[in-house]
Amino acid sequence: MKYVEEYRDAAAARHYAAEIARTVTRPWTIMEICGGQTHTIVKYGIDDLLPKAVTLVHGPGCPVCVTPVELIDKALQIAALPDVIFCSFGDMLRVPGTLGDLFRVKAAGGDVRIVYSPTDAVQLAKHNPGKQVVFFAVGFETTAPANAMSVYQAKQLGLTNYSVLVAHVLVPPAMEAILGSPANHVQGFLAAGHVCTVMGYEQYYPLAARYRVPIVVTGFEPLDLLQGIFMCVLQLEQGRFEVENQYARSVRREGNTVAQELVAKVFRVVDRKWRGLGGIPQSGLSLTAEYEEFDAETRFGLSEYSAEEDPECISGSLMQGEKKPEQCSAYGTRCTPDHPLGAPMVSSEGACAAYYRYRRLRTDDRVTIGDANRG
Ligand code: SF4
Repeated sequence: MKYVEEYRDAAAARHYAAEIARTVTRPWTIMEICGGQTHTIVKYGIDDLLPKAVTLVHGPGCPVCVTPVELIDKALQIAALPDVIFCSFGDMLRVPGTLGDLFRVKAAGGDVRIVYSPTDAVQLAKHNPGKQVVFFAVGFETTAPANAMSVYQAKQLGLTNYSVLVAHVLVPPAMEAILGSPANHVQGFLAAGHVCTVMGYEQYYPLAARYRVPIVVTGFEPLDLLQGIFMCVLQLEQGRFEVENQYARSVRREGNTVAQELVAKVFRVVDRKWRGLGGIPQSGLSLTAEYEEFDAETRFGLSEYSAEEDPECISGSLMQGEKKPEQCSAYGTRCTPDHPLGAPMVSSEGACAAYYRYRRLRTDDRVTIGDANRG
């Protein structure tokens, strides 16, 4: 398929790996933000192509992984209610809260449905006026426009039986929290290309300048990542800390302004707790006053509920780049994709799930760059 195979070309990958090796003179630690990027890196063994001086660490960019445990518990409580249709993307159904997971609620008779778009949930509300339909609005800036559209549509349609359980988080405040930590050792970032497709990359300039870190907006295919790493290493070696755009085929500096306007109409920026990372100021979204009637937490009286993460899960250290999945004592033993203790083992974008699938035995599903048929 055009626009896929050329980004998995083995000869070009070897070229970039050689350029990186030729450029590097000392150790550097680079964090990729997005779970999709982590997945590509582990799947194609990109970190194994790099010189030992370049360390890749995996950031907090898996939306399923950072949704706090109390929001999972709130979802479970709402989904178990009679006359509720609880709608979610599929990944969220296996994420463990302290009260179980959504599959367990479904097995016990709860009406839990997987949808592929929040506007499908709006249609369900329209056709089931006797039910309360709730959509689990999880994700980063990438999914916020579609979720905002669903609330906007529900208001236009006059629906009083549609609401959203909002768990939206924002990438730049999380990057700032990582950079501001005394334990931080991240020296450069690969920013998530799809987030920047929506939001642009203006907001990264102050971060790059304040913390003196290069930030390269990067795509998701193997050659995107190798080129992004090369651009980041080149800046680090030259003492530059600029914002650059590797993913120019999708990202414009200003982003998608129409989507941004819709998000700003429906959502406002608030402090938010992240699973594994704790509270981060001004790092999440909540409904604006004009749309707060669609807030599921208020509608079902759950605003004050709180819960704590399983202490054995070190996902916070993973997402701050301090540790890797293999350093978790539960990895591959008490925590597996079939029996996950923490969210990073559940999601297809979670670092633990990617390591388990592609790295545990070194003989399994890992794909060689250039093997387009298996990609
Ligand atoms: S292996 Fe499981 S328990 Fe350990 S960090 Fe990953 S998700 Fe958490």
